[in-house]
Amino acid sequence: MSDRMTVECPKCGDTSGVVVLADREDTIVSACCEAVIPELNDGATILVEDGKLVCPYGDCGAADQILELDVATRSNDLTISEPGVIKVSLGDGSFERDGFECQQCMRSVSLPDGYELSYP
Ligand SMILES: [Zn+2]
Ligand SMILES: [Zn+2]
Repeated sequence: MSDRMTVECPKCGDTSGVVVLADREDTIVSACCEAVIPELNDGATILVEDGKLVCPYGDCGAADQILELDVATRSNDLTISEPGVIKVSLGDGSFERDGFECQQCMRSVSLPDGYELSYP
């Protein structure tokens, strides 16, 4: 077994060694271009470039295409409004975050350090 791993660089297409970026949550990138290798990372940290959120994966790199995924549960009261009809009133909802995803390549990503979410 070899301890030197090579991959096809997602940016330039050359065969490259890999390096681990400890300052980006141990993201595994190609040694040549420091392009994030999708197969070796799950939830790589989003890059911030020119004030835009940029997909971290070397073969994508879409700007401002990041989505928050969430799941919502809501409890709705049921009452009988007239014989044979049950009225549903829209009750309180709660949302739980399921993660973040790039709309372009549909891979999961995570928030950059030092950023927090603000909701309307
Ligand atoms: Zn490269
Ligand atoms: Zn992407």
